[in-house]
Amino acid sequence: MLISIVVPCFDEEEIIGRFHERVTEEISGYGVEFELVYVDDGSRDRTLALLREQAAADPRVRYVSFSRNFGKEAAILAGLRHAEGDAVVLMDADLQHPPELVGRMLELHAEGHDQVVARRSRTGDRVTRTLLARAYYRLINRLVDVELVDGVGDFRLLSRRTVDAILELTEYNRFSKGLFAWVGFRTATFSYENATREQGRSKWTFGKLLNYGLDGLLSFNNKPLRAALYLGMALVAAACLHAAWIVGDALVNGVDTPGYVTLLVAVTALAGVQMVMLGVIGEYVGRIYYEVKRRPHFLVQETDAAPVRRSAPRARRPSAEELTRT
Ligand code: UDP
Ligand code: MG
Repeated sequence: MLISIVVPCFDEEEIIGRFHERVTEEISGYGVEFELVYVDDGSRDRTLALLREQAAADPRVRYVSFSRNFGKEAAILAGLRHAEGDAVVLMDADLQHPPELVGRMLELHAEGHDQVVARRSRTGDRVTRTLLARAYYRLINRLVDVELVDGVGDFRLLSRRTVDAILELTEYNRFSKGLFAWVGFRTATFSYENATREQGRSKWTFGKLLNYGLDGLLSFNNKPLRAALYLGMALVAAACLHAAWIVGDALVNGVDTPGYVTLLVAVTALAGVQMVMLGVIGEYVGRIYYEVKRRPHFLVQETDAAPVRRSAPRARRPSAEELTRT
């Protein structure tokens, strides 16, 4: 049994060496065979040089380096494509995912679980962020079709068939939390106390988180479109009622023309609603646009890894002619 550890790294020069030591020490203790697949996501610091050194010094290390920063989701995808293990563990390079937990993951995997998920607590997070996250998960779980859990991230073990299933999902907009949940299979979750980052800085800003949240909302359902539709219908109904009321009022009390405020409010409110709806539609159209371009998720600039083992080629679909012949 071979375990692959996949590690996306972006500007992690301060910590990557220590990460490597900790992880190799920890996993060597388990007596399993393992490999480390580092994905350098276009780092601008010495991360790549350090990875090269590590790969030269240790045959269990492989690395893939992108031509520029493609984002963590792309890095995870590249890591999964290159991983050859019977099980793959995804880990951050900043030691926020304690290597000691890999043992527990392997145990649960041996018990027959395909996905073993470590769920972090929110200790050390700012209160505002915790509250926002809680509200967000409540909202998103009403909207999307898969179950998303607060504190659950990319720190997880995936069995071979789960990895293959994920590699089958070739969409361009990758919201991996959702993808993992979508794939399913037997999943076990356990909790751990959150560790704050020791060195370097988190690359998340508030704006990025907001966009990430929106991505999650939009990648997994079309309910926002539905909501826009209902809102539109409700507004039309309200407008009709209001119109009826004004006409009735004019008939009963004679013609009266004040209504500047009503008019203005109606016009601006409607314009606002229309903008929102257009925005929602635009989001989906934008996603379709990205999907149809079928661009690769990342470009590799340098690697010492063997050529990518892609998921099994899909059986060719018989043509209509072949089908009618039989
Ligand atoms: N990361 C990456 N590409 C990026 C941003 C981050 O590969 O564009 C990696 C980063 O090196 C780290 C992991 O993703 O290993 C998590 O990043 P970070 O610690 O910034 O996120 P947080 O822990 O705050 O969610
Ligand atoms: Mg981190």
